[in-house]
Amino acid sequence: MPRHVIPEQETLATHRVPDLISGGLILTYRCTNRCRHCLYNCSPRQTGDWISVELVDQSLAALAQEQRLQGIHIAGGEATLNMDLVEEVIALAAKHQVPIDYLETNAFWCRDDDVTRLKLERLRDAGLPGVLVSASLFHNEFVPFANTRRCVEIGQHVFGPQGVIIYQPQMYQLLESLENDGKHTLEEACAELAVDPASSWVPQSYGVIPSGRATTDLRSCFRASPPESFEGITCADHLLNTSHFHIDPCGNLITGLCAGIRMASVYDLHPAITPESHPVSYRLIEDGPYVLMLEAVASHGYEPRQTGYISRCDLCVDVRRHLWQTGRFHELQPDGFYSEG
Ligand code: SF4
Ligand code: SF4
Repeated sequence: MPRHVIPEQETLATHRVPDLISGGLILTYRCTNRCRHCLYNCSPRQTGDWISVELVDQSLAALAQEQRLQGIHIAGGEATLNMDLVEEVIALAAKHQVPIDYLETNAFWCRDDDVTRLKLERLRDAGLPGVLVSASLFHNEFVPFANTRRCVEIGQHVFGPQGVIIYQPQMYQLLESLENDGKHTLEEACAELAVDPASSWVPQSYGVIPSGRATTDLRSCFRASPPESFEGITCADHLLNTSHFHIDPCGNLITGLCAGIRMASVYDLHPAITPESHPVSYRLIEDGPYVLMLEAVASHGYEPRQTGYISRCDLCVDVRRHLWQTGRFHELQPDGFYSEG
């Protein structure tokens, strides 16, 4: 590997998380699925820790102070594993006058028409305006398409046609075209569609972000590059992006799509981001993951992966996992993101 020089820090700028625009409240990282593309490394193996009602209340109180906030969605993991809590969140959002946009679900629970309708009506009556139903080849490894379709069709009846978002519609159509409406492994679905499950079509068809679990479980679908390829790419555009933020069960604020980085907390949503307070995220904002890697090599014994990295985020997550193992970086949370993979 070529020798590189870590840039000297000149006059240091201070950053702050901008006003929050739109985001999600992650009630749990626990999920019925272990999707190969999951950005947040959710799975049945994640601890069963749920956000507490008190923290929901505090989070919504803090969000209510955000002048530019447009709305939030209820997210997971799979939030419907705790319907009582979902109802409490809806009620607390109304109390704090924070608009709820929708509830995200993988529809695993929609096994039966009556149960599906009753649960959706219960949520509608509590004040939920709609649902976002996940549909992809990755979800279909765990959730029969019949459940996905049932959630969409009954959801349209309960909430009205505008109250159901299918994410993503082209994947829904693809799943509809398969011979049966059950589950399919990625390999089975690809065989039926006559595509190579290790081809770039697989992530491209859904717009998979090459981060989170995709860096391992969909690795063969991407071409790897040496770390130098990511030199000069900085991350302010993601880490200071609040158009799709999340607040997790510990009250961590996650900006952009940068899972595993605690930029702030609901107790202070806009702290100063300095090299002292946020050594990892500050470096990522200013210099990007390549320079973070150089620091990790120089100071923490990180060994760059000889087989390369499929994206800047693959590089970033691998370096961060190494740094997390040192136990010295409080920004690198939650632990389950790094230990589950
Ligand atoms: S992508 Fe959604 S359904 Fe799949 S594991 Fe992650 S949270 Fe669960
Ligand atoms: S490289 Fe890291 S900080 Fe940058 S966008 Fe990817 S996950 Fe976020």
